[in-house]
Amino acid sequence: MTLLARLEALESKVNKNSYNSSKPPSTDGLAKKTSSLRESSGKPPGGQAGHKGSTLKQAMQPTEHIDYPLPGQCERCHHELPLHDALVGERRQVVDVPVAAFDVVEQRTLSLRCQCGQLHTSAVPASVTEPA
Ligand SMILES: [Zn+2]
Repeated sequence: MTLLARLEALESKVNKNSYNSSKPPSTDGLAKKTSSLRESSGKPPGGQAGHKGSTLKQAMQPTEHIDYPLPGQCERCHHELPLHDALVGERRQVVDVPVAAFDVVEQRTLSLRCQCGQLHTSAVPASVTEPA
């Protein structure tokens, strides 16, 4: 190969980019030709002020309740707890989509104060809160 032929081969190699050859754009280097034709609206990116968002609301009537149980007796004085007086604490609704309709299971934690003043609160099991 002559020097001139080698020079031409090298020059053609250098002048190739993703626009005029099959070279990928990642080999074009830092000088990119691309620029968006879109003109700026002057607004900040993302949701605009005044836009009414939509969030999944809790259903008024759950199909089913799951109450996470309180202990049967006080953990301090060991007095039997009047469980029917328990108040609903945290509510979380899990929406399941069966074949035909929605099934809404409302999971509730309970809280109850013993006669001695000790407050008991049931917890959502870790197996429920942790992603499978
Ligand atoms: Zn007690």
